[in-house]
Amino acid sequence: MLKNDHLEAWDRENFFHPSTHLAEFARGVTPQRIITGAKGCHIEDRDGNRLLDAFAGLYCVNVGYGRQEIAEAIAAQAKELAYYHSYVGHGTEASITLAKMILDRAPEHMSKVYFGLGGSDANETNVKLIWYYNNILGRPEKKKIISRWRGYHGSGLVTGSLTGLELFHKKFDLPLAQVVHTEAPYYFRRDNLEQTEAEFVAHCVAELEALIAREGADTIAAFIGEPVLGTGGIVPPPEGYWAAIQEVLERHDILLVADEVVTGFGRLGTMFGSEHYGMKPDLITIAKGLTSAYAPLSGSIVSKKMWAVLEQGTDENGPIGHGWTYSAHPIGAAAGVANLKLLDELKLMENAGETGAYLNAAMADALGDHAHVGEVRGEGMLCAVEFVKARDGRVYFEASEKIGPQIAGALLAEGVIARAMPQGDILGFAPPFCLTREEADEVVGKTAKAVKSVLG
Ligand code: PMP
Repeated sequence: MLKNDHLEAWDRENFFHPSTHLAEFARGVTPQRIITGAKGCHIEDRDGNRLLDAFAGLYCVNVGYGRQEIAEAIAAQAKELAYYHSYVGHGTEASITLAKMILDRAPEHMSKVYFGLGGSDANETNVKLIWYYNNILGRPEKKKIISRWRGYHGSGLVTGSLTGLELFHKKFDLPLAQVVHTEAPYYFRRDNLEQTEAEFVAHCVAELEALIAREGADTIAAFIGEPVLGTGGIVPPPEGYWAAIQEVLERHDILLVADEVVTGFGRLGTMFGSEHYGMKPDLITIAKGLTSAYAPLSGSIVSKKMWAVLEQGTDENGPIGHGWTYSAHPIGAAAGVANLKLLDELKLMENAGETGAYLNAAMADALGDHAHVGEVRGEGMLCAVEFVKARDGRVYFEASEKIGPQIAGALLAEGVIARAMPQGDILGFAPPFCLTREEADEVVGKTAKAVKSVLG
């Protein structure tokens, strides 16, 4: 328990909270929540509330809270060697071991991992590597990146541009000109309600083809996508989507970046979402589940095909002009090693697949027929409930009604944390992989109660 009585005041006076309504927070409209401790799937706040965290922080505490094995690995690393850099061939036992563990788990055609700190900077690295790659190949015009509306890839300048959510562009002068967006593989929100799933996939492909034709294939370097759309609404792709998209990309010599910040290391019940959907990416973005957020660490896994060109580039130009002070930070790396060991030893990936399927089935059972539930969807330990004003004709609520946030608020009052996704009335669930069936039942039961309290 915290002793400092000034924390609330200090918080409002000094702390610039990310993704927060700044004025409402300062005015005291947005509640404060000071978190004091956590264990397994539960967190505790300063007011003594114990909450079931069905979003694993920001879908990142995959192995659950309070894992002493990871805490001890971090402490041991800090005592022995808190820091050394990884420039010009330097490394540590933890960073080298973790790179090997990642490559052992990654798809066969991947070659190396570059370490960063978070998902945004890893995608920043990806874009730079893509540009470098095409410059070395003598294709200076082939630079644009295609992203999808509702994709989430970070909130930096280029990564915020890749992110296909209005809130991340508005008033920031984004997206940058090198980024273009295409249709999201979001079958539920298709414009033409008559379309079958297969017809909708064909429509996504046609949209992509038209965009490439409009811009010119010789100007397009890469396509970035999350295997399952995350922050944009937790939307698994329709059947056949990735195979059809990849066929187009290959034909136009466009690289594929699989942003696996959420799906990497087991959330879908497979080590990577790429594996799950038969994707063959040239770059894979990893973060969150790499350390289960016990320390900040991310990575860009580079394919053999790209690596050969990057090597050639340094033969021609000298060392690669890209590096962060904290690339491969030993404390993050030690957390990553301990985290991936736990994932294996406790078979947590398997549990994400099995209990995730149970959670999704139970949620569909409880809410699938509700008059204001348009869809219950998910994959592995990801689940979403999308609300509509009317199912018939798929009529949405006005954004100003804040149905999603209201239901998330009612659920929080029941002691369960889910996330009102930022665009649409969508309640998202991404629990830690150690979730039990009893906890899944609790999440579903309390969600049904919260929905009833807001929508009847
Ligand atoms: N990519 C994806 C798919 C993400 O979900 C996120 C974060 N939610 C990011 C990138 C950005 O990661 P970070 O917030 O660590 O910069």
